[in-house]
Amino acid sequence: MTTSENIKKLLKSIPKTDKILQTLPIDIPSGFKLRLCRRVLDNLRHSILAGRLTDIDALSLESVAQMVHKELEKAMSPSLKPVINATGVVVHTNLGRSLLPEELFKSMFEIAVNYSNLEYDLELGKRGSRYSHVEEILCELTGAESALVVNNNAAAVLISLETLAKGKEVIVSRGELVEIGGSFRIPDVMARSGAILREVGATNRTHLADYERAIGDNTALLMKVHQSNFAIVGFTLSVPMMELKALGKRHDLPVIEDLGSGNLIDLRPYGFIHEPTVKESLDAGADLVSFSGDKMLGGPQAGIIVGKKELVDKIKKNPLNRAVRIDKLTLAGLEGTLRIYRDPDKALSRIPTLKMLSMPLEETRQRAEHLLEAIRTTGVNTLKIGTCETISRVGGGALPLQDLRSTAVTLELPATQDEAHSLIAVLERALRLGDPPVIVRIEDDKILLDVRTIKTEQFPIVAGCIKKAMATIGRV
Ligand SMILES: *Cc1c(COP(=O)(O)O)cnc(C)c1O
Repeated sequence: MTTSENIKKLLKSIPKTDKILQTLPIDIPSGFKLRLCRRVLDNLRHSILAGRLTDIDALSLESVAQMVHKELEKAMSPSLKPVINATGVVVHTNLGRSLLPEELFKSMFEIAVNYSNLEYDLELGKRGSRYSHVEEILCELTGAESALVVNNNAAAVLISLETLAKGKEVIVSRGELVEIGGSFRIPDVMARSGAILREVGATNRTHLADYERAIGDNTALLMKVHQSNFAIVGFTLSVPMMELKALGKRHDLPVIEDLGSGNLIDLRPYGFIHEPTVKESLDAGADLVSFSGDKMLGGPQAGIIVGKKELVDKIKKNPLNRAVRIDKLTLAGLEGTLRIYRDPDKALSRIPTLKMLSMPLEETRQRAEHLLEAIRTTGVNTLKIGTCETISRVGGGALPLQDLRSTAVTLELPATQDEAHSLIAVLERALRLGDPPVIVRIEDDKILLDVRTIKTEQFPIVAGCIKKAMATIGRV
């Protein structure tokens, strides 16, 4: 048979649409089923014409119906779904950054399904402020005069600059012109805000005199930006907030700071490198500080702006605010998270991000043993499993130099060295495509499951996923 004859034959054997439709559940909208069916059949035709599909058995009603069922299953389940983070990166931006405390679920749910006093002053019986629900507690926790929350910290920086420095110069050290990733770069955000960036100093060293020399008639602000995801080491110098504030005061210029992650509590007692807290930055004289809600603070995605009332009021009145405003569910989550901070010790045990960050090495050792046991219990015996010490990361572009000593469970596939490399990647993929997906790291042809970022109640689930993944790759 010639190739074209064979192709004709294959095309002819594709099952009829109505035959396939009969195999699908009746409670699914028929238009949707039809579109899905046609898509699968179209793909089959393409594969046949391109010579990728040559096996006629793959075109039986049974196998094609199975394909459509699989597509249907995929289409019917949510695209956004929980995954298990076994990477040890605590604030993992690609995996949703911070986990909210489960205790907030009820209050967030109540706000979701009911009307609320979102922008309604119950006392006065008239329009109120969306920000009122978190302003007081933010001021309480940071010592600020006034506060405002927006969509995220990128928006907070943008609106602060647009309000206070449009058409004017903002002086920033060359060592602080950071790119966060996801296209957030200080020079670009500055340009979009209409403010004019005035870089001073050198990459490694900036002196107070550099700022002073750059001050002119068109200067609007002095700005500090947290270096976040990188560090300059060696021969370095930066100007502390206190000195910058003194300079600002002499020239009647506000000083603002983009703190990036924005810690509310000092984590030094838990072995952390010193990071100025929001309060410390304000105490040192910053007139305005902005930071993220979902980095080390451990709340929902939000941008928080705190500082002098006069400046915050100006930002509140900026019409751009409407475009970057915070949603009510987020607000409920943020208010709940902030309330937990009233008791800093409780914050460490009740806010998942802080709990994971402050987890001692010894605890990770014990948890790794538990996970190991859970995996053993499933009876997979074609895997070599063990534990090893590893390093977790804070993530979210915060504290790049902070090593968090942790423990990982390791998975190895018995194979020759040549094989091991590709086999472990196949297992990693099977875990990633599992239900739920388990996201892991590979090091030296081993899979590492860092227990720091896995919830204890997920251990049996992870164990089950490993067993399923081994079956998927035919290794049981
Ligand atoms: C993370 C970060 C931002 C952006 O914050 P988002 O909340 O992600 O928008 C801005 N500036 C600095 C210094 C950061 O670290």
